[in-house]
Amino acid sequence: MSDGEVTVHVEQEQGAKQSCPICGRVSPGYDSRRRRWRHLDTCQYKTILVADVPRVKCEEHGVVTVSVPWAEPGSGFTAMFEALVIDWLKEASISAVSRLMGLSWNAIDGIMQRAVERGLTRREETSPTHIGVDETSFRKRHDYVTVVSDQKAGTVLYVGEDRTKASLKAWYESLTEEQREAIESVSMDMWPAFINATLESIPGAEEKIAFDKFHVAKYLGGLFPKSGG
Ligand SMILES: [Zn+2]
Repeated sequence: MSDGEVTVHVEQEQGAKQSCPICGRVSPGYDSRRRRWRHLDTCQYKTILVADVPRVKCEEHGVVTVSVPWAEPGSGFTAMFEALVIDWLKEASISAVSRLMGLSWNAIDGIMQRAVERGLTRREETSPTHIGVDETSFRKRHDYVTVVSDQKAGTVLYVGEDRTKASLKAWYESLTEEQREAIESVSMDMWPAFINATLESIPGAEEKIAFDKFHVAKYLGGLFPKSGG
């Protein structure tokens, strides 16, 4: 432990067989590269996982880095840490998460994009039926983004720039007609751009849009800032 940081070294079992991450073929070791991932904090300390990740020489794919079970390729965070960040992003603004977790905008953006990728991979198997549309902002006023989530699966399906009708419509348009018809409810705040995008894209939207209590309270709070104490 140093500088309020906990470092966890992960070592590979001696003599473990390694396989190519692309084709799964067991391949001879080539070398290894030291990699670091931020993991869930240990007590209040930032915790870093360190491992020498082997590279193998696959007959077909050449020298490739093996996959590790705790993180996605290219991420500097463990999967558990990324899941925690996504949970917080559902409750708080990007700027709050950035400040409290000590993450840059780029880091959060990467985590969101990977969550979207996972959502997209799952979307091919099942169509979301209950979705939520949120706007969230980065920094005080600017850089709004539109976030669509699958409320049943708890996964992020889409992150679009701005909070305009066009940004939400772009997501609706990426769906098949069957997928649009399969949507049974859309939970959102009373934001005209989201309402209009949904009315224009989802069959029978009038019956499917739900303004949830939290969103409505926020809206009313904005209209009547002095009411209710
Ligand atoms: Zn291979």
